[in-house]
Parts: sequence; C-alpha cells; structure tokens
Amino acid sequence: MVKYSSKINKIRSFALGLIFVGFIVMYGGIFFRNSPLIMTIFMILGLLFIIASTVVYFWIGMLSTKTIQVVCPNCQRHTKMLGRVDMCMYCREPLTLDQSLEGKEFDENYNRKK
Ligand SMILES: [Zn+2]
Repeated sequence: MVKYSSKINKIRSFALGLIFVGFIVMYGGIFFRNSPLIMTIFMILGLLFIIASTVVYFWIGMLSTKTIQVVCPNCQRHTKMLGRVDMCMYCREPLTLDQSLEGKEFDENYNRKK
C-alpha cells in the first residue's frame, strides 16, 4: 500500500534529504585529503546539493502562496492544501475542493492534468 502525505510535507522532506546528501558528500571529501583536486570536487558537489535544497525551500515558499487554507473536517485544525486533492497535514484526512470527487477514494492522480 502506498502511503500518502501532504504534498508540502513531501517536498519539505525532499529538501531536507538534499541537505543531508550534501553533507554526506562533503564529509566524503575528507577521505580524499591527500588529493586536493578530488576533495575540492566533493566539496563543490556537496555545496551544489545544499544550494539545490535552498532552491527547493524557495519553491516551497512560492507554492505556499498558492495553497488554500481550509479547516480540516476531521481534526478541526487549519491546514493548507494544494491542487484538487491533498491531505491534512496533521491527521492525513483526505481533502478535496471538487464536489464531484467527494466521498471517492483518495487518489493523487486527480491532480494530474488530462
Ligand atoms: Zn486533520
């Protein structure tokens, strides 16, 4: 079974992963201390991952302006949703803005344009 999570949370964990990879790559460069060139390549590569994650974080900021704030019917908390269907950030209750999709099983494919 596929586990769904709120889109913003998903992108956020992706950005966090990029930072993590960046640090691992930079750390890997330490093993090539004897070769300044390889070490520099590792450092630049690691830096690129961290820059990429900054870009993703910036993208989240842009996306956040496009989200719609709704009150979750299940936990009564304010949550943000993106696209036609999304999930509550807190309790993972499926949410939809489209009346025709109400009551149907949660499917992220509804967000794809036909
Ligand atoms: Zn909720």
